[in-house]
Amino acid sequence: MKALCFLRPLPLIILCGCAFSQTMSADWNLHRYAGRDYVDLREIAAFYHLPPFESVDKSRLRSTGDDQQMEVQRDRREIKISGVIHWLSFPVMVKDDRWLVSRLDLGKTIDPALRPEKIANLAPFQTVILDPGHGGSDQGAYSPSAWEKEFTLDMVRRIRPLLTEAGLKVIQTRNSDVAVPLEKRATIANRAKNAIFVSIHFNASETNRAATGFEIFSVTPRGAPSTEYEHLHTRDMVEEKGNPTDLASLALATTIYHSMQGHVVMPDRGVKRARFAVLRLSQIPAVLIEGGFLSNPSDLSKIVSRSWRDQLAQSIAQGILEYHRLTNLHIRPRTVAQYKKAAKSKESTLTLKDIPVEKK
Ligand SMILES: [Zn+2]
Repeated sequence: MKALCFLRPLPLIILCGCAFSQTMSADWNLHRYAGRDYVDLREIAAFYHLPPFESVDKSRLRSTGDDQQMEVQRDRREIKISGVIHWLSFPVMVKDDRWLVSRLDLGKTIDPALRPEKIANLAPFQTVILDPGHGGSDQGAYSPSAWEKEFTLDMVRRIRPLLTEAGLKVIQTRNSDVAVPLEKRATIANRAKNAIFVSIHFNASETNRAATGFEIFSVTPRGAPSTEYEHLHTRDMVEEKGNPTDLASLALATTIYHSMQGHVVMPDRGVKRARFAVLRLSQIPAVLIEGGFLSNPSDLSKIVSRSWRDQLAQSIAQGILEYHRLTNLHIRPRTVAQYKKAAKSKESTLTLKDIPVEKK
């Protein structure tokens, strides 16, 4: 269902002016505008060994490296990193002939997306909490074929065996048509040791039947507005339970999303940020997947197909196992381009059984 359903009012706090900590260790030249630190794109390209940015048109710059690419648009929050859309917290800004990205976005999105293997608290895991959205009286979004709650449970039942066959333990927040409060879902996540949390949903729009595509969410960093909001609010300064692991959550979201986009044809709505209850309350890496729009006839015609749902389940499982490989072996996960190239050469990328997982 439209992910808004996860938002709960948060207590107001006094806005504090203290700067949030950053994980970036390099000495960046910072440019300060409107009370916020920014970094020059040229410096970012040099730091990540990307070719210099070149203009695509008046409003866009692109850097095309062999393995990694970045494309930015002035005054926009969407940027492309290695073939998928990421939503920044603040728009890219052009000042005094400099293209600038906020320091927060560099630390919280660009850096973990470009080199997730460098994230400090990237803990190996043995357990995956699979969370089928909605259930019971909370039916989620409507479609003439089935309610969202039925599709989400069906998806989890398709993903589960792929993970257990690979040696991972799976816990479900529900395995029947029952209502499970959002806080309880997060409690189940927080009780598990060495675990990650993956929530499955399908989208719907009451006002725009043309809305289509995949998107994935991880928790909004402290000091940033969620993707849905344009401006900062007082509540954005709250440190949520999910914030200490927000870099790992972003890496998990990016890894799963590349696999989804690399294996299943669907428009790219991007890697987004939200403070949905299950994301802000989970103390383990947590993501929420929106697997297409039940309100869009073209998306729905795919979602109702069992073989399409199998394909989506495999792509999500593959993403989870890539993340497992990242946390265990510090191998950078594959990108959408690498999956597509492998598919063209008829190489199988669904190497579920090839990834060593220690059984417990
Ligand atoms: Zn939903």
